[in-house]
Amino acid sequence: MTPPIAILGAGPSGLALGQLLEVANITYIIFERDESATWAIGQGGTLDLHAGSGQLALKEAGLLDQFKSLARYEQTTTIADAKGMVHARFSGSGDNDRPEIDRRDLRALLLSSVPANNVRWGQRVQHVQRDTNGSMSVHFSDRSIESGFRLVVGADGAWSKARSLVTPAKPQYSGLHYLTTSIKAENPFHSSAVSLVGQGNYMAVGDGKQISAQKLGDGSYYIAVGLRLPERWSSENAALLEDPSALRQSLLRDHFADWPQVHTDLIKHSEGHFRAWPLYAMPTESLSWQTVPGITLIGDAAHVTTPFEGEGVNCAMYDSVQLAQQIVKHGLDDLDLAVSEYEKSMFPRAIDLIRRSAENGKLLFAPDAPRGFLEAFGAIDST
Ligand SMILES: Cc1cc2nc3c(=O)[nH]c(=O)nc-3n(C[C@H](O)[C@H](O)[C@H](O)COP(=O)(O)OP(=O)(O)OC[C@H]3O[C@@H](n4cnc5c(N)ncnc54)[C@H](O)[C@@H]3O)c2cc1C
Repeated sequence: MTPPIAILGAGPSGLALGQLLEVANITYIIFERDESATWAIGQGGTLDLHAGSGQLALKEAGLLDQFKSLARYEQTTTIADAKGMVHARFSGSGDNDRPEIDRRDLRALLLSSVPANNVRWGQRVQHVQRDTNGSMSVHFSDRSIESGFRLVVGADGAWSKARSLVTPAKPQYSGLHYLTTSIKAENPFHSSAVSLVGQGNYMAVGDGKQISAQKLGDGSYYIAVGLRLPERWSSENAALLEDPSALRQSLLRDHFADWPQVHTDLIKHSEGHFRAWPLYAMPTESLSWQTVPGITLIGDAAHVTTPFEGEGVNCAMYDSVQLAQQIVKHGLDDLDLAVSEYEKSMFPRAIDLIRRSAENGKLLFAPDAPRGFLEAFGAIDST
């Protein structure tokens, strides 16, 4: 029997939705392009889940206690400038309502109670269409087709293959890239990273650039270098990305030559390849489409945003809560109404997040950062 609901993508929003439908005894299938649960996620960093959104999804899914046993509560965030001066240090304690969890642990947690048969790995969606009988079909890159769905939920991230059915809008490049790599626990430099960063996050900003480090659950540090780069930088620098030591030298020489060693050491002593993340956001004016029968979007597929507010995953998982609640409320016979109610509540939340994140991005990548950023958060006096 074809389940009524197909979810595209086993990221945080797709898996949370699956889990919430599971709790409500509504059948569904998730199609994910990754070959397995651990595929491609190795280079991901850490995410802080907020009490009223990301954690709420886990609570409704019956996973909050397990999350609490995995999450890291006692985190310190240090914010420094491009000269090496520390401007702020915030300490999270045991009652911190935004604890951190590694991306791979979050996926494993969400998968722990989704039946294995409900996720089809290695299924890359190419497009979605409405068939002549009014039902929805999902077409894959290996030319296979799954059809007969009453609702397809695009939870397939920034480059969603379902989005064109509801809006012609596309994510817009922010002008910024993150280049990410790591410092493993076995690295001889690791103890210096421990002294600088400690248990949480360290972020150095200024001159329109950023170097940051985040401690992961396995003790390693996730290093992110933020720069203004052309949108197509990765494809134009494919050879450099394949040669990490040349890329390290190029970053240190061409972008951070006048930065203090305390920060540049995080790049110099990092190891392995870099992953390039051009950062995109949906244009806010695109977030108001008319509900289209049989299709909707959640998470980054609906409203990808730059990551400077640290809420993308929380907003994505909150979408799952709201969509699941509407589906339960209106039932499978009125999915269009459920989708329309969900979308009505999602649009203003998403627009607000995209705007706040863009504002933070301006402040974090300003020449005199982190001054404006800290003033905006009341962390330093502007008078
Ligand atoms: C560098 C960076 C740092 C970030 N830092 C933070 C942070 O600190 N805090 C925060 O809250 N958010 C952060 N975000 C944003 C956060 O990662 C996203 O908002 C969140 O992952 C969205 O979840 P999602 O499930 O909607 O989409 P995704 O996490 O993108 O998941 C989409 C899933 O769909 C799958 N998929 C994609 N295309 C297809 C296809 N064609 N067929 C089948 N499957 C497909 C993907 O493999 C993936 O599993 C960051 C983002 C980036 C890029």
